[in-house]
Order: sequence, then C-alpha cells, then structure tokens
Amino acid sequence: MIPGPVELSPRVAEAASARPLGHMSKPVVEAFGRALKAMREVWKAPATAQPFVVSGSGTVAMELAVANLVEPGTQALLVSTGYFSERMAEMIRRHGGEPVIVAAPPGGVPSLDEVTRRLDAAPGCKLLFATHVDTSTGVLVDPAPLAKLARERGLLSVFDGVCATAGERFEMEAWGADVYLSASQKALGLPPGLGLLVASERAIEARARRNAPPPLSLDWQQWIPIMQGYESGAPKYFATPATSLIIALDVGLAELCAIGVEQVFEQHRAAAETMRGYWQRLGLRALPESAAVTANTMSALYYPDGVDAALIGKVLAQDVIIAGGLLQPLAPKYFRVGHMGWTSRQPELLARTAAAIASALGRSL
Ligand code: PMP
Repeated sequence: MIPGPVELSPRVAEAASARPLGHMSKPVVEAFGRALKAMREVWKAPATAQPFVVSGSGTVAMELAVANLVEPGTQALLVSTGYFSERMAEMIRRHGGEPVIVAAPPGGVPSLDEVTRRLDAAPGCKLLFATHVDTSTGVLVDPAPLAKLARERGLLSVFDGVCATAGERFEMEAWGADVYLSASQKALGLPPGLGLLVASERAIEARARRNAPPPLSLDWQQWIPIMQGYESGAPKYFATPATSLIIALDVGLAELCAIGVEQVFEQHRAAAETMRGYWQRLGLRALPESAAVTANTMSALYYPDGVDAALIGKVLAQDVIIAGGLLQPLAPKYFRVGHMGWTSRQPELLARTAAAIASALGRSL
C-alpha cells in the first residue's frame, strides 16, 4: 500500500511474468499497437497526439519531456508542490533552461493569480510545468486552469502525471494540455519499468524547431517512427523495448478501458473517500491543506503526537506496507499510503490497511 509500485491485478501480474518475446514478434507488435491507442483513450487525448512508451521509470518520462522541450536559455514557469516538482526544476536547469519557480508551503498549491502574476513578470517563459499529484505530499494540482492559461499565453503546458494518470481526472484534449507524462507503476496498475508520455502536435512541432537535437535515446524524432510503426503494425527498430512490460501494458490498459476511464476515476474517488473516512475516525490529520488539493490516489498523514516512523514497522508486522515521509524537513513527521490502481478496487485491502494502522496506533476504527 505504498504510493507505487502497487499491487497488480491477477491478469496484469500473469502477463508481466510470461517469458519475454522478441520485439518484432506478432504478439508484441499487436500489444504495442493496442497499448498506444489505449493510451490516447486513458489520457483523453486527441487522435493527433503522439503517445510514447519507453523503458525506464517516471524520471525517464520527465526527462523525455524536458530533453525535447528545454534548450539552453529556455525559460519555464514551474508550479512547485513538492519533491518531484523540485526534481523537475533541477532537470530543467541541467538542460540549460531557467525555471521560474512558483511554490507554495508544503501542503499547498500556488493560486492561479500568483501563477498569472509570475508569468506577467516573466514574459519570456515558453513552457509551464506542474506536478498533477506530488507523491511526496499527496498534493493535487488542478491542471485545467493551468493548461488554459498556458494556451492563452502561447506556452506549452507539461504535467507530471506519474502519481495521477488514471487515478485523477485528466482531459488532455478538452483542456488543451501539451504533454502528460507518467510511469507504469502507480494508478495505471502495472509493474515498474515503463515511462509513458503523450505529446500534442504543438509540442512535437516545438521539438522539430529546435536548433540542437536532444540526446539520441530521448529524442522524440527518433521515437516517433517507432511508435507509428508499432501502431500501424509495421514495426521498426531503434532501441529494444521491454517486451514483457509492453505485453503487461496492453493487458492493464485494456482492463482500464473495459471498466471505462470515467469509472476508473470514480473508483479512485470512492477509494479516497473511504480512506479519508478511516483517517478521520483515527484522528489523523492530512498534510494537504484542504480537500480541494488532496489527491485521490494516496494519503499523506501526520503522525499523531507521540508517534513516529516506528509506526511503519508496526504496520509491516501486520503484513501491510506503507511508506514514510519524503519531503524534507517534514519527512520524519508524516507517512504515506497509496490507494491507487487495482487496490482502489479492493475495499477489503483498504479496510485491512486502515485496521493495521489503527492497531499499530492502539486506536479503534
Ligand atoms: N513524479 C512523480 C509525481 C512521482 O511520484 C515519481 C515517483 N514516485 C516520479 C516523478 C519519478 O518516478 P520514478 O520513481 O518512477 O522514476
């Protein structure tokens, strides 16, 4: 019950543990093609958007966005809500860009007014970055007004959905967002190992206009013919895909599409409501400052007075795994529980988690 990697559905677990097949084999080509199409459905992206699946974790997906869009001197407004936003800022710097950071105290989200004022004061910004759910704090950002603001100002918007995709509403087409990046191991309910990203036509065009190409292994222009090849059933080689994970991706995304993306969002909302009910009964206080900025995919909760990280070991003794805090200097003061992906559909696992925490705290539910 950590905020990723998550428990897998039985079918996804089975698919992921099958013998690896060749990257040109029929089952892999077909699975890859279906998975790319399903990504547009889960991302609610237009037909013109380009999905990418690369081997690696969410950090690689972040770098896939930054490496293609940030050049030396590129100014990028960054809405910072925690540890992973800070990582994004560092990545932008390392690619020679200049992050203009708008941050809120831990648990908060900078207001749209504040973001707008910072953009007014930094008219050279070409990009707007935000973390949909920052896993370090469980803070949820509403991407819709940010994507709209970016459109109005002619900026490209990039959202890190690693702890959100399929667990929190995201409407790439309706909101006009340009990049939504993710990873396999969280609300998508897959094993770790894949970086996933969908880019708008505008974003792809921005890469095409660059003066210098990005690192070869991250270059969208290298990957586009590969993704298009798999989608059209005529695969080409650039770099060997993680074939077992591609098979699992196909099975996992098909499961989500069969349930329906709207219903999957609703399952996460319902699971989060259940968990919040437990936390309330246990007298636990959430780190996010209000319900409006609290994620549905996970909970970040302060330890009650007199309790510390030893709680995690006491919960583990009951065979339930939860995670410690991540954002310094608050990290020793809170813990985190994931409730996303397949687990969001397993009320008995949610109840067992709450019961283990209750017993470790010596409180009753
Ligand atoms: N962004 C967010 C919001 C994350 O939660 C994480 C991982 N927890 C990452 C990026 C980095 O992903 P990974 O650990 O898979 O590299």
